[in-house]
Amino acid sequence: MKRYVFAALCCMPLALIAQRANILKKAYFHQGANQGVQVKGRPQIELGTIAFYFDQTPRIESSIVQKKGETLQLLFLPNIAVTPELMQALAAIRTQAENQPFSVRFAVKNDASRKGLEITLTYPTDAVGVKYDHFNSIGLQKGIALRFYNKSLISQINQIGKHIITTAALTPRVFIDCGHGGVDCGAVGNAVKEKDVSLNVGLSIAGLLKEQGLCVTLSRIADEFVPLDARTTLANRSNADLFVSIHANSAPNAAANGIETFFFDADLLKEGECFFSTLCERKQAKDQQQIKQMKSNQLAHHVHSALISTVQSAHSVIDRTIKPAISQVLLGTQMPSVLVEIGFVTNLQEAVLLSQKAYQEKIAHGIATGIMHYLGRA
Ligand SMILES: [Zn+2]
Repeated sequence: MKRYVFAALCCMPLALIAQRANILKKAYFHQGANQGVQVKGRPQIELGTIAFYFDQTPRIESSIVQKKGETLQLLFLPNIAVTPELMQALAAIRTQAENQPFSVRFAVKNDASRKGLEITLTYPTDAVGVKYDHFNSIGLQKGIALRFYNKSLISQINQIGKHIITTAALTPRVFIDCGHGGVDCGAVGNAVKEKDVSLNVGLSIAGLLKEQGLCVTLSRIADEFVPLDARTTLANRSNADLFVSIHANSAPNAAANGIETFFFDADLLKEGECFFSTLCERKQAKDQQQIKQMKSNQLAHHVHSALISTVQSAHSVIDRTIKPAISQVLLGTQMPSVLVEIGFVTNLQEAVLLSQKAYQEKIAHGIATGIMHYLGRA
C-alpha cells in the first residue's frame, strides 16, 4: 500500500509536494512570574509555556546531550514550513527567553536530507525541567505546548513533603482580561464591537471588586491592542489568584444567543514527552496542571451560576452552560482561569442589550459576585 502512495508522490509536481508541508501558523510565549530560578515572593512551578500551532499534528524527534550540569536538548520537527512573519515571532520568543533560566533557539533546516524546524533548548540540568503536550485548538489547528518547569522548586517541595508551596495572600489578587482591543475588534455584529463591550464590562468588574477590597489588575484599560501572550505574562507576573477573560460571541446563525463559560481542561492535552529525570518530578508537573484544572472548574461554576442568575432575574437569557476548552489565554496562565462569553453580538436582541451600560453593569455584577463566591468572600 505504502509503495503506491510513495509512487504517487514521486509523480507529483514539486510545487504540490511543497504545499504539503505542515505550516507553523502561530507561536506564543506565555512567561511565568519568576525571572530566574531563585524565587522571590510566591514561587511558581511553571517558568513559562511556548505554544505552537500547526496545520497538522507535527512529529517531534528529540535528542539530549548532558554536559557539565547543562542540558542541550534538540527538538526536530520534520517537514515544517515557517513563513517570514512566524520567523519574526520565533525571533521575539528567543529574545524574550533571555530573561529566563533557559535559552531557546530556532532554525529552519532546508537541506536535502533534513527539512524542518529545529528547536534548541539549553538549560541548567538541576534547575529546569521540560515537557511538551499536544492539543487541538478551537479552529482545529494542532497545538504543541512546550513547558518549562522550575525543577529546583520541585525538588524543594519534594524534600519538605508539601504538595505545593503557597503564601496565603491577605488580599486576593484578581486578573481581569478584557478580550481584544485596538486593531483587533473581536466579533462585530449589529454595529456592536466585542472589544468595546469586553472593556466596559471588565472595567465595571474591576471597580466592583476593588470596592470589596480586592487587588485587581486589568489586561487593558483603554481601546488598545494587547497580544495574547502579553496578557498571560502580565497575569502570571501579577501573581494573580485567578484569571477571568471577558468576551462576546458571534455565530453565522443570527438566532444563536446566550451565555457560556469555558475553563482550562488538562484532560484535553495529550501527553507528549517529559524530560524530567525522576518520576516524582514528572508527577509534580502533572499535578500542577490538575490543580489548575480543578480550581478553574470551580471558578467557572461560581462565575457562571452567579452570572446566569443575576441576568435571568431581569432578562430571558439562554444558559449555554460551562464547557472545557483550551484557548490561548487559558493555556498560558498559571492560575485558575476561565473565559466568559457574555452574549452574541450577531444576535440582534443580545447586541442591543450588550451595548447598554445598564446591561453591561448587570453582567459585571454577576461575574464579580461569582468571583467573590469562589474566594469565599460572599
Ligand atoms: Zn473574543
